[in-house]
Amino acid sequence: MRPTILNSLYSDITRLKGVGPKVAALITKVAGPYIANLALTPPTGLIDRSHRPTIADAIPGSLVTMTVTVDSHEPPPVKRRPYKVICSDETGFITLVFFHAHTDYLKRALPIDQKRLISGRLEEFNGGRQMTHPDHIVNPEGQDTLPLFEPIYPLTAGLSGAVMRKAVMQSVASLPDLPEWQEPNWLKKQGWSSWKKCLQSVHAPDSEMSLSTQNKDRMRLAYDELLANQLALALIRRDRKKIKGEAMKGDGTLRAKALKQLPFQLTRDQKNALKDVFADMALPERMVRLLQGDVGSGKTVVALLSMLNAAEAGAQSVLMAPTEILARQHLESLGPICDALGIKIDILTGRNKGIARRTILEQLENGETQILLGTHAVFQEDVNFNRLGLVIVDEQHRFGVHQRMALTQKGLHPDLLVMTATPIPRTLALTAYGDMDVSIIAEKPPGRKPVTTRTLPLERLDEVVMGIKRAVQKGEQIYWVCPLVEESDVLPLTAAQDRFESLRSALGEHVGLIHGKMSPQEKDQIMEQFHQGNLSVLVATTVIEVGVNAPNATVMVIEHAERFGLAQLHQLRGRVGRGDKPASCLLLYKGPLGETATARLKILRESEDGFRLAEEDLRLRGAGDVLGAAQSGFPRFQLADITAHGELLAASRDDAQLIIDKDGALTSKRGEALRTLLYLFGRDDAVKLLRAG
Ligand code: ADP
Ligand code: MG
Repeated sequence: MRPTILNSLYSDITRLKGVGPKVAALITKVAGPYIANLALTPPTGLIDRSHRPTIADAIPGSLVTMTVTVDSHEPPPVKRRPYKVICSDETGFITLVFFHAHTDYLKRALPIDQKRLISGRLEEFNGGRQMTHPDHIVNPEGQDTLPLFEPIYPLTAGLSGAVMRKAVMQSVASLPDLPEWQEPNWLKKQGWSSWKKCLQSVHAPDSEMSLSTQNKDRMRLAYDELLANQLALALIRRDRKKIKGEAMKGDGTLRAKALKQLPFQLTRDQKNALKDVFADMALPERMVRLLQGDVGSGKTVVALLSMLNAAEAGAQSVLMAPTEILARQHLESLGPICDALGIKIDILTGRNKGIARRTILEQLENGETQILLGTHAVFQEDVNFNRLGLVIVDEQHRFGVHQRMALTQKGLHPDLLVMTATPIPRTLALTAYGDMDVSIIAEKPPGRKPVTTRTLPLERLDEVVMGIKRAVQKGEQIYWVCPLVEESDVLPLTAAQDRFESLRSALGEHVGLIHGKMSPQEKDQIMEQFHQGNLSVLVATTVIEVGVNAPNATVMVIEHAERFGLAQLHQLRGRVGRGDKPASCLLLYKGPLGETATARLKILRESEDGFRLAEEDLRLRGAGDVLGAAQSGFPRFQLADITAHGELLAASRDDAQLIIDKDGALTSKRGEALRTLLYLFGRDDAVKLLRAG
């Protein structure tokens, strides 16, 4: 149960003055439904009213606060004209302008011959100075009621800054004193004050500096939020380890034979990753491991050897790919090796129907099939395994946390290995996959030639086509990618279609087209033709993005490269340079390029290191957008900014682990306070695990 001390913060925002159902709906949209959500929403900007010039010195367009004397009122001569109030100081005159004025109110607020403090934006009109609807009009005796600095909060249509600010201020005024959950020595070392003091100060900014992510008070709040995140993940990780898995320890015979079949030696990173996996599999608890490796780093062979380890131990494995094409490609590369080892491998996708499908399912259920490849179809309801020991998910970013959960809900607790080709910055990995163990393949297999990357404006398309023609004549193969256009589902098709037709007329009939709207059969057919070398140029939408292997392709042309994200461009480029011929990537852009797009293309020219690119991507775009945050289950932080607070994140991870080791049930005094922290940040899910345990 949530501690009662948080009750006021976890009350509905409708409890606040000025927040009726309509406003509540809007605030819920930008912050959340609880008073706590408002309190934990930091200001994004600042209105500075501290500039106090005389009328003569004031610069038109600027925000000013001035002391003036009210000289006269000029009601509108005719309807629809504004009401004017003339004021002055010793240096000149200013006209205050009011539309749809309430005369009574103005007479009371601006009595003749009296001094008033006014604040608002100064304008110049017909050579004179004026201010339309001042933000504040106060009696100089009541100066304190005029805020010299006003924080700005996130808004949405229909929600005014003043209403939002008033609501936030009320939430801050009602903050309870909470028990200290941070370690005292750590607090002292950082020079941080209490949670409440820091939060109050963050909501009372008095300079741009105080809004910075490096502001001391803000840093403490960021650390609180990160610690809540890391502690919750640590609790989930621990809970997961309680689930009994199967201890699988093969005798190594199949693996040894398979290694002999491979035309190469494993790299050091591949070996290390396998060591991690085998160690996990041998334990009686469930493995949940993430294998991160750039495109072409050789994750498939790691998957194969892991599945063979399961087979040696008499268990079945599943390798799940995000697309039909990829599943089939895995069958192509793994099938022959398995055949040679006498291992029965099969494939199940949405395409298998009727008797064929039934046979596949039977052989799976009676244990004949030891390795199953496929798409999501492998986890449909009527698919039953004989003894499923290992599940491998390829290309994680297409599978969310929810699919991970779905497995468990099926009553299956197989070891789980998730492979992703999208290098994730270390910081992001900590927050998003903190519940998983991680292995990394950083080095590429030896002998890979670098891909030469060039950028060209689209205006030079003709030259590019000529170049492609020469490459085709030399027997090379080319990918040509056309971008997605967001506004419509139809457009990307036409873009690719148009390009396909124009290239066909320029280059002849060895040009093919593949796009997401094709049936799986059609796609396979086209890929097969490209693979066989019957097609020289493959025009594609981004369906080729993930994992498809065509070792002969040497040129990647990306049209409208400025519309792609860095990670996506890197993925696409990874499709070429897989064979022994030198490869190149042409990024065609439509100018003029914005700052970010320019930076993106420049980094791509300079580096092929997926991890470095991922870090840069994070820096350029901010955490929210990297890899399409929504689909990949990255948490959204309100106070922490992981591009700015990376070090705090690492510290919070260690801190969380230490807490779990020392006081796993969170029953000490600090433990109790930490429970409050978890509830404060809405991590009730993690606290529940404590009670269940
Ligand atoms: P990805 O990590 O993108 O899935 P793959 O597993 O498809 O990469 O491997 C890419 C290519 O590299 C494949 O052709 C594979 O046979 C080859 N490869 C994998 N490991 C090695 C290695 N240690 N040495 C040489 N080539 C390798
Ligand atoms: Mg792969």
